[in-house]
Amino acid sequence: MDDMPDFPADLARALPKAELHVHLEGSVDPATLLRLADRHGVTPPATDEAGIRDWLRFDGFPSFLERYFWVCGLLRTADDFADIAESYLRHAHDQGAVHVEFHVSSSYHIVERGADWSEVLAGVVAGCERAEADTGISSLLIPDLSPHLGADAAHRALDVVLAELHPRIVAVGMGGPADNWRDEDFGSAFDRARDAGLRTVSHAGEHGPAWEVAHALDVFGAERIQHGIGAMGDPTLVARMVDEGIACDVCPGSNVALAAVPSLDEHPLPAMLDAGLTVTLGSDDPPLFATSLLAEYEHAWNLCDLDDDGLRRLAENSLVESFAATELVAGWLSED
Ligand SMILES: [Zn+2]
Repeated sequence: MDDMPDFPADLARALPKAELHVHLEGSVDPATLLRLADRHGVTPPATDEAGIRDWLRFDGFPSFLERYFWVCGLLRTADDFADIAESYLRHAHDQGAVHVEFHVSSSYHIVERGADWSEVLAGVVAGCERAEADTGISSLLIPDLSPHLGADAAHRALDVVLAELHPRIVAVGMGGPADNWRDEDFGSAFDRARDAGLRTVSHAGEHGPAWEVAHALDVFGAERIQHGIGAMGDPTLVARMVDEGIACDVCPGSNVALAAVPSLDEHPLPAMLDAGLTVTLGSDDPPLFATSLLAEYEHAWNLCDLDDDGLRRLAENSLVESFAATELVAGWLSED
């Protein structure tokens, strides 16, 4: 398509926008990874940033998980969490993000690793505060529950999260589908989170079909869906989501990297927009997927044949669908 205009990178960067689907633990860039390895006396998988970037390029889901958890193994102290949060927020700010909602793997830290959640939280908050003081970027936290550990473990992680509700904690999320979603009672964990004043979101319909999305809406009461591309298999569900204003936080680069779609050209993003779904763009685990927030805007531009207004609408969606205070959102929208 020779006549397709080039991606307006400067405009995309200048648009005030939020990133609502990025995992704190998956956001660690090569320079930060090398710094953490050095701090803890761990031999890194490569000695320079280019080598780390190469190593992060996985070839299949098992090696993705292996790298993800290798990075998680470097996150040990409050300082580590402060550094990764600050580093990513600075990076997001450079791309024109005014607000980030970090998904934090609370089940992993609390249940699997037995970490001191107070220390994790204090570190993340310190990093958010440092980045905000310097750049003005706003940030909130979404502790995610992991279904593969079972519902009892989800409740145990939630107990700890709810015991220390820092104002930056705005929602609870479900980290991903598992084959026990319909057999175990995760819904009551989300009821408890709502009773404590938190919002609720859920990963669903990434690799799996539309029922996952319906389950996240019906049982978890999810207000936003992370990914949600599987919903496109059920037009009735899509119509319901349009009706109820349920946004999908979509990450095309991640979907290609993890083979949720065969190729970028086959990504359902254009169909989602055509169907009237509200979409926000996120980078999920950017260094692992060799992507960035702006790269996702470029994917959307190319895939959906967007014009400047289309790009602007995606940025506005991310602000409107965020859980930031309404006066902040109104301010950002008026800058646009
Ligand atoms: Zn995700």
